[in-house]
Amino acid sequence: MKIAMIGTGYVGLVSGVCFSDFGHDVICVDKDPTKIEKLERGEVPIYEPGLDVLMAKNVEAGRLTFTLDLAKAVEGADAIFIAVGTPTRRGDGHADLTYVMAAAEEIAQTAKDYVVVVTKSTVPVGTNRKVRETIAAANPALDFDVASNPEFLREGAAIDDFMKPDRVVVGVETDRAAEVMAAIYQPLYLRDFPIVTTDLESAEMIKYAANAFLATKITFINEIAALCEKVGADVKQVSRGMGMDGRIGNKFLHAGPGYGGSCFPKDTKALARIGQDFASPMQITEAVIKVNEEVKRRMVEKLADLCDGSFNGKTVAVLGVTFKPNTDDMRDAPSLTIVPAMVGGGAKVRVVDPQGRHEGEKLLPGVNWIEDPYEAAEGADLIVVLTEWNEFRALDLKRLSGSMNTPRMADLRNVYKAKDVEANGFTAYTAVGRSGFE
Ligand code: NAD
Repeated sequence: MKIAMIGTGYVGLVSGVCFSDFGHDVICVDKDPTKIEKLERGEVPIYEPGLDVLMAKNVEAGRLTFTLDLAKAVEGADAIFIAVGTPTRRGDGHADLTYVMAAAEEIAQTAKDYVVVVTKSTVPVGTNRKVRETIAAANPALDFDVASNPEFLREGAAIDDFMKPDRVVVGVETDRAAEVMAAIYQPLYLRDFPIVTTDLESAEMIKYAANAFLATKITFINEIAALCEKVGADVKQVSRGMGMDGRIGNKFLHAGPGYGGSCFPKDTKALARIGQDFASPMQITEAVIKVNEEVKRRMVEKLADLCDGSFNGKTVAVLGVTFKPNTDDMRDAPSLTIVPAMVGGGAKVRVVDPQGRHEGEKLLPGVNWIEDPYEAAEGADLIVVLTEWNEFRALDLKRLSGSMNTPRMADLRNVYKAKDVEANGFTAYTAVGRSGFE
């Protein structure tokens, strides 16, 4: 199969690289010349474990190329994937479809022969039909089908998720499009991963429903964590006991500083908006959005409490600012609420993050970037574990506490045990949904 991939972000690049590894011929196209220049030099513009090696292998094999020229990518393609961003539209919470519709227009102007136009971006119900109408209006002579193929990969584990998915969802209108999609995903059939074939609307809905459900699960345990703190329960024990129930499952039951990232915040808002538009309110999702904001605010209060009620004049070492480990993605990370609140309150904030600096420097003004957690802790009044990178999971607590001005720790990912922290010289510790010591 010959595949054109429009957009070389977290989803487009990973999908393009993995499709080429399946043996397909893939051309990835992006509007951003710096991205394409980097890719042509063999550099990966994002941080995603393993992507550099897999990309190099397939470029070397001649199955994977990059271009700024959409017409070149589209020429002779069996399928054109749209994997551009669908951020929250300013002002109303809707998914911004500007990039998707612009890509559809460009496809209409460049495609010549039968092709399946596949939307991989997360888009509201009805978008694939709009894509079809847009292309048909701009190029009535073009023979084509549309398909909805939402992506479920997680940043940080994207290659494995793409190669070994729980399922692939494909929404189609014709047998011909279904056949092209089946041929593209054929290598997965061989390994027996299920492909769920649906109509366009159901495929679009599956993606939003799945993300909203996961955001709900996280938010539920975060709310339980707040109650645990009040009643003296330990949320880690509670989630373990809950998660062993096969009907519940143990994933996405880790209490923390609130969900963030490039998907859950925007997709929950978009689903709530779709519900309003169709007079079918998504009340649970709306509550989740509100509670998640409260969770982040609660974290700021926790930190202020640990700083004797005021950040003013305090030196704080923040470990981790990306929305989760193993990514450089800072979009909607809880750190973007928590760190500015401390800076605004007069704290001197030092930040350590293995991959977050490049993006973080633009988003977190007024902080000092430090490479090493031990250096960041020197003379500090508080350490905050905000993202559970492996690098921060087994720190030498004695060494940290010994160099701090006041050895206090806020462990917002529940990495450490209160008794170990105390035994290693810390005078105050707070976690999420568990008793600390103060
Ligand atoms: P991204 O912002 O990282 O990448 C989008 C890319 O598309 C950018 O490089 C941009 O320059 C390019 N682009 C925009 N318009 C273009 C055009 N007309 N022609 C060529 N290139 C164009 O976005 P992302 O995180 O990869 O997300 C893409 C979509 O996938 C979104 O809808 C998102 O919701 C969905 N998704 C993301 C994830 C994730 O973990 N990031 C997971 C599942 C689904």
